[in-house]
Amino acid sequence: MNALHCQRCGARTTRAVPADDNRLRDLCGECGFVHYENPRPVAACLIESEGGILLCRRAIEPRVNYWTAPGGYVEVGESFQEGARRECWEEAEARVSVDALQAVLDIPHIGQAYAIFRGTLSEPGYGVGVESLETRLFPIDELPWDELAFPVLQFALQWYVEERAAGTPHVHVASIAWKGSGDRYDAANYDVGDHLATPVHP
Ligand SMILES: [Zn+2]
Repeated sequence: MNALHCQRCGARTTRAVPADDNRLRDLCGECGFVHYENPRPVAACLIESEGGILLCRRAIEPRVNYWTAPGGYVEVGESFQEGARRECWEEAEARVSVDALQAVLDIPHIGQAYAIFRGTLSEPGYGVGVESLETRLFPIDELPWDELAFPVLQFALQWYVEERAAGTPHVHVASIAWKGSGDRYDAANYDVGDHLATPVHP
């Protein structure tokens, strides 16, 4: 993700630690601009309907053909919840009420930070957005665990399903990290750190 050329003036950058800083950054030798790299926020939503969860089969890479909850990068000028509602419309043609926070999960090695909500349909019906091949309402005991697109969703859904069965809902905050070997798309190859699970009292 290095910036070889300055985003401001186009001159070549060099990799160095700026004065009063402690990390390597891409620095512009001409105008002095510092290219900071920060995680990008992603908003996603578990849509609950008729006792199941609405998932989309991806039409685009990465992970084409795999199932995911509607989600995507938050745009500038948009709140997390607005991003989640927009993605539900774009990917599942579902008008959704965002009801609660389910998990905040960051993935440091790829620079993403997810806010995953729970939502319900605010208008009946759903469809297939342009980034999806199919949208399907999965009963809880028929979720496609072996065909989920991303580990972050595997964790969020696993906690959701376990706690729903036990009647003990929690809000989760955690950091997930690939162990360095094995399939990057399998949650079994991830460590969960900084995990805070806060009970939700109805
Ligand atoms: Zn510059």
